[in-house]
Amino acid sequence: MDDYDVIVVGASIAGCTAATAYGRAGLRVALVERHRSPQAHKTLCGHFVLGGTHDVLQRLGFWQPMVTRGAAVTTGLGVWTEHGWIVPRPDNGVPPAISLHRSKLDPLLREIAAATPGVDLMLGHRVVGLVQDHAGGVRGVVTANGTAGPTELRARLVVGADGHHSTVARLAGVPEDHAPNERFLFWTYYEGATMNGPGGGQVWPLGRDVAVCIRVDGGLTQVGVFPAKDRLPEFTDDRQGAFDRFVAGLPDGPSLAGARQTSNLVGTTDYPCIRRDPTPRPGLVLIGDAATSSDPVPAVGCGWAFRSAAWLADATAEPLARGGDLRRAVLGYRRAHRFIDKYDALGRREALARPPGALQRTVRRAAVSDPDIARRLATFAMRAAPPSALLNPRVVIRASLGSRTAAPRARQPAAPAR
Ligand SMILES: Cc1cc2nc3c(=O)[nH]c(=O)nc-3n(C[C@H](O)[C@H](O)[C@H](O)COP(=O)(O)OP(=O)(O)OC[C@H]3O[C@@H](n4cnc5c(N)ncnc54)[C@H](O)[C@@H]3O)c2cc1C
Repeated sequence: MDDYDVIVVGASIAGCTAATAYGRAGLRVALVERHRSPQAHKTLCGHFVLGGTHDVLQRLGFWQPMVTRGAAVTTGLGVWTEHGWIVPRPDNGVPPAISLHRSKLDPLLREIAAATPGVDLMLGHRVVGLVQDHAGGVRGVVTANGTAGPTELRARLVVGADGHHSTVARLAGVPEDHAPNERFLFWTYYEGATMNGPGGGQVWPLGRDVAVCIRVDGGLTQVGVFPAKDRLPEFTDDRQGAFDRFVAGLPDGPSLAGARQTSNLVGTTDYPCIRRDPTPRPGLVLIGDAATSSDPVPAVGCGWAFRSAAWLADATAEPLARGGDLRRAVLGYRRAHRFIDKYDALGRREALARPPGALQRTVRRAAVSDPDIARRLATFAMRAAPPSALLNPRVVIRASLGSRTAAPRARQPAAPAR
């Protein structure tokens, strides 16, 4: 007999979500995590979880505990355009986003998973090998736990939730599809900053560069810049200076005079997109970053981690519990994952940091004055519906007609110099 019904590798967003859902479905789950401390957390993450994840967070009962731990809820973001702001409307039906530092989020999710009957949280266990059958199916994992010898665990399904460098995928020989990211990014937090744009936060798509300003937990304001890589030398010479100049040049940007910067700049100068087949081998599936590690600019990764884990459990918990056809169930997960694949294809193009095309310019311009297009754009940005909610011929025609007739603005703020 197998030791468990499911082995989930990685006790972060994707892994804790899957383990909790499987545990609640009555399964025996090993949740294996290399870190020893339940407080361990990812540091390189902007922790802004898009509104498209709201349903899953509510359904799993994660939303309220996040709010109780101090998460900031954002009902809409203002988007700057050279034709004026796209102002979010509170009644537009786009679900809210949520932000909680990973130092609070990861331990919270681990706590919920560990308290779920049927879930064994195995901290300090690093997966170093896979148990495989002769037909290439995955039957379990081998873990190393400090000085103790290797432990072999067997289950009907192994779930790789071990992040963008996924050891499980590497051990299984799963091919990786890499795509370049032509932007780099840095952000920091301020106490006492004032936002001057509309909404609970603002986004500035400035040609090839992007900037954001968002209210987060702890009463802090997070300001982030995502310049195209040709600006890298400027940041290499004087990172903080270049950051400050960039932010100071944002039209209607935040007022930081008198505000206190509460952290050093956090970020990275290269973060390529990585994609792997989420259902690569019999007995093995991948969720979260292990399957799709996207450009950080649209802030999709945490949402994909929660959602792919929930979709996997929805598709497979019952056959795992009742001994049904797991292969078919896994195909159901593969189908659900196409939602992410479609956005990832668009995200990879965006990550090339090309100047906005005619379609993007037309849609943004129309959204300034057309509430329906503004709502569709917000739904797209929050990943709350498939891309076709925005990218369809009807919307494109309406946007083209609207932007041709839109009146020019009396006073347009200047975009910061590149
Ligand atoms: C700079 C940057 C900014 C970002 N900002 C945002 C943002 O604002 N919003 C957003 O939605 N997304 C953001 N992301 C993406 C987000 O951080 C990831 O998508 C998210 O963390 C993925 O969660 P995960 O659970 O799949 O993987 P991870 O959070 O990476 O967790 C993987 C887990 O697996 C464990 N593990 C790894 N190997 C092993 C092993 N061999 N054995 C056992 N355990 C193992 C790790 O210790 C870890 O706990 C950002 C990413 C970057 C790089």
